[in-house]
Amino acid sequence: MAAGARKRPGYTRRERIRRADAVRAWVAENGLVCPGWQRDPHPAGDLTADHIVPPGAGGSEAGELRVLCRSCNSARGASMADRRVPGLEIVLVAGPACAGKNTYVRQHADPEDLVLDLDALNEAMNLAGPRVHIPAHLPFVCEARDAVLERLLLGGHQVRRCWVISTAPERARREHYRRRYGARVVVLWWPEETCLLRAMRERPPEWQQYVRQWFDRYEPDPKDTVLRNWQAAREEPAR
Ligand SMILES: [Zn+2]
Repeated sequence: MAAGARKRPGYTRRERIRRADAVRAWVAENGLVCPGWQRDPHPAGDLTADHIVPPGAGGSEAGELRVLCRSCNSARGASMADRRVPGLEIVLVAGPACAGKNTYVRQHADPEDLVLDLDALNEAMNLAGPRVHIPAHLPFVCEARDAVLERLLLGGHQVRRCWVISTAPERARREHYRRRYGARVVVLWWPEETCLLRAMRERPPEWQQYVRQWFDRYEPDPKDTVLRNWQAAREEPAR
């Protein structure tokens, strides 16, 4: 990876070189200084170049670049206003295990929607079997999911909607989806006892612990749409 270039899916080698050149030119002229994003210029050894107008927001792939340090660049990314892809909807479906998140998405998603389900991704990435989580794999499974989301932000695709299925009990976690991806957040909520009963009946034993952990960690947020005791429509019984 060329110095200063930010490696991301979807970037060609030529684009990475172009970015590295932009950083080099900036450093030759200004030294190891970040011009700052909503803060004063400051010394920085981790400069990176990114589109001023991202392709997903109407800019060209070969468009002008801006040099910032990594921290300023992600602050800029988090502000989202200049990164949101017009017409793309991202929905985070959160809630405890056994609350019917999967069923909810099945009932609301179109076949051409992307669906990022941590359980399904996990199952695709090892041979441990359905619903068996290997802790050492989890960071990789999460990175695979996040890589898709980051790619969606870059634009230049036909995807109009992406569903993310994640327990996300922490308020900050759900807020991250709102801020970075402009996501709408739906929380499916059932009483803990109901989720525990379902876990006992339908899942490996460790899932009861997942249910308890979710309720221990859950932080409500008025910005979420909370659906209490959501049930699948009759014609398609809950799976
Ligand atoms: Zn900076």
